[in-house]
Amino acid sequence: MHFENTKEFAKSLDQQDPLHKYREQFLFPKVNDKQVIYFTGNSLGLQPKNTQAYVDEIMNDWAELAVEGHFYSEKPWWDYHERLAEPLSKVVGAKPSEITVMNTLTVNLHLLMVSFYRPTAKRYKIICEEKAFPSDQYMLQSQVRFHGYDPDEAIVEIKKREGEHNFRTEDILKTIEEVGEECALLLIGGVNYYTGQVFDMKTITKAGQDIGAKVGWDLAHAAGNVQLELHDWNVDFAAWCSYKYMNSGPGNASGCFVHERYHNQKDIPRFEGWWGTQKDTRFLMKPEFEPMPNADAWQLSNAPVLSVAPYLASLQMFTEVGMETLIQKRNLIVSYLEFILQEIDKQVDSTFEIITPTAQEERGTQLSVFLHGEGRKLFDYLMKNGVIIDWREPNVIRLAPAPFYCSYEDMFEFGQILKQGILDKSNH
Ligand SMILES: *Cc1c(COP(=O)(O)O)cnc(C)c1O
Repeated sequence: MHFENTKEFAKSLDQQDPLHKYREQFLFPKVNDKQVIYFTGNSLGLQPKNTQAYVDEIMNDWAELAVEGHFYSEKPWWDYHERLAEPLSKVVGAKPSEITVMNTLTVNLHLLMVSFYRPTAKRYKIICEEKAFPSDQYMLQSQVRFHGYDPDEAIVEIKKREGEHNFRTEDILKTIEEVGEECALLLIGGVNYYTGQVFDMKTITKAGQDIGAKVGWDLAHAAGNVQLELHDWNVDFAAWCSYKYMNSGPGNASGCFVHERYHNQKDIPRFEGWWGTQKDTRFLMKPEFEPMPNADAWQLSNAPVLSVAPYLASLQMFTEVGMETLIQKRNLIVSYLEFILQEIDKQVDSTFEIITPTAQEERGTQLSVFLHGEGRKLFDYLMKNGVIIDWREPNVIRLAPAPFYCSYEDMFEFGQILKQGILDKSNH
């Protein structure tokens, strides 16, 4: 498509956008009395207007039914989380039985590692990407130490090449081959949080399994953002948070995937709790654990329904729209943003370097931009002028125009504010 850096052109794209009406269904913060341009849906998605009703429903049931709400509310709490399996399975490409919703992301990865990181004297290494999200680094280090190994030796990081911003699949495959039968687990972020690079999850999963390792994915930046086929890719396990692209609210419940080949196994190592036992006998309070026949066997506690309800509200929208339509808009709006950045770059004495891969299959909603010659002051200028972005040292801004609620006109307006901020140095 031939783009133009004009308001009229941006508006014409909005008019043709099948998702444009969804913008009205989200709550936007305001700066200077004006709705913000929101680029941080990769960090905390906006609140859908229908969320309040889902939360109120629980609050009202609690008020009116108290303990009876577990069984007699319209959406009974005792199996409330099961309502998410079907819609979520569509988002991540799984069977509903392979999905469960519980806890939070880092907690879930730890719990899944109990099952899928089973080091032995010979096979104990974990492969991850260098500069992984800090929580993942702490998690991997503490797991390795817990099993009595030295993180410096047991954790192998896939490296980028000198001077390059992104990982090359061939280098990832080479590392996998090198570690070979010493590798117990591969655990990588499916979409890199810093650069927005999307990994070739299918190829990497197969390569990891070919050397006899288990393969898990941290999908924090992938769920609701990129096409996932977890079942068909034969992924062993995965987990993601729901508050980034999935708009379910700060710190809310996390989703997990456990491939069906691990279901119905009584002897699989696993930390267990009463919500993982068979539903029909759960309240007989028997001493033996009878696992649920699906990913729910990994559940421990009765579901935190106040944290799960906003996730269900958000999934209603994902079901209505579907990942395919979301991804179509995502591709177009990200390309338009890229074009706007290039246009503004030509007009000012500055150099933006987009460090996110250019190929569509290697990127999702996020563009990470190196602002050479600009500093933190530009970031402050943008924030003061109603552009919500985030800043990562040394001077990278991350821009994620979430397709549900960002408009093409937002992209145009952003370009204008950015240009003004750079030209008008007195503002700095
Ligand atoms: C956001 C994010 C997390 C956050 O973990 P929580 O347990 O939800 O705080 C973890 N890993 C990655 C890769 C992330 O992007």
